[in-house]
Amino acid sequence: MPDQAWIEGMPEHLDFESDGLRRYWVQLDYVHDNRPQRLAWPLVVCRRGRGPSVLVTGGTHGDEFEGQIAATELIHRLDPVRVSGLLLIAPTLNRPACLAGARRSPIDDADLNRRFPGLAGEGPSAAIARFVTSALIGRADVAIDIHSGGEAMEFVLSSNLQGRPGSPDLAAGLPALMAFDAPYAIVFDEVKAEGAMPHRGTLEGAARELRKFAISSEIGGAGRVTPVSMQVARDGLRNLLHHFGVLKDPAARLAAQSRSRLLLLARPEHYLAAPVKGHFVPRCWLGDEVERGQPVADLYQLDSGTLARQEVRAPSSGILVAAARRGPVQPGEDLLYIAEPFSP
Ligand SMILES: [Zn+2]
Repeated sequence: MPDQAWIEGMPEHLDFESDGLRRYWVQLDYVHDNRPQRLAWPLVVCRRGRGPSVLVTGGTHGDEFEGQIAATELIHRLDPVRVSGLLLIAPTLNRPACLAGARRSPIDDADLNRRFPGLAGEGPSAAIARFVTSALIGRADVAIDIHSGGEAMEFVLSSNLQGRPGSPDLAAGLPALMAFDAPYAIVFDEVKAEGAMPHRGTLEGAARELRKFAISSEIGGAGRVTPVSMQVARDGLRNLLHHFGVLKDPAARLAAQSRSRLLLLARPEHYLAAPVKGHFVPRCWLGDEVERGQPVADLYQLDSGTLARQEVRAPSSGILVAAARRGPVQPGEDLLYIAEPFSP
């Protein structure tokens, strides 16, 4: 059962306006298998006076752990006296998936980050998306949604921002991207290629639709946490909350002091998919510089009569920022992402 300091609350009875710290188990009603069900969903609301409104979310994908833990640590150490404005913390966004340690909800098999804004649908994922869009994103100026690569992929430790090179929106958002101070800061943009980022139905997309500022990350992945990935998530969240002014911290690093290497992931040739089925064996790894045409991986077709090996070459020059974690892959599955150095 929830701790004494946590209180149960129906969505319509939550207090977002009074000063103070409130820890809620939000009671989200949904229908599953034609039966009414209820999900208890943790949310921390902390307001002190007027100021920026910032939403922090972890666990949009349940197999990405750094965000869930960084948001939980923030709840544990939060001192309301240091808050200016409104801070909303939802550490386990797709809670059923988080508890299962899986990308998708075991209840409705939904990828929550394809379900926003959640206007339709009756399962738990739609109920979460609907509540987050209307009650949380609607109140926030800024959404910080912390992701990692999950079971399927591993990324360089990076902050992420969607933006079009040369646009005023990107110029305005770059200081936040750099303030995160991860080893890499990646700008990504719409790509026509199938499967490439950004996808439809994301929390960030829902935030941008409402003209809110949304920032994200890809902090490692491969379905596990490392001490370094955890520290990058922890420091990045602290730096961002300081940057936006909602939670000042003298230890925070400023955007102007950022050590992040700025990269662009925005063209079809930045994404390398498997041309054939096979066992994926990368020849280079995250952070490596590669040249266009360089062999970067092999696919071993162990089920072919000749046990054939197919060489896979880099479609562009740049830095290897993501790699598939699986050995056996199907044609069209993502193998490697190659980002290019970017100076706005
Ligand atoms: Zn994710």
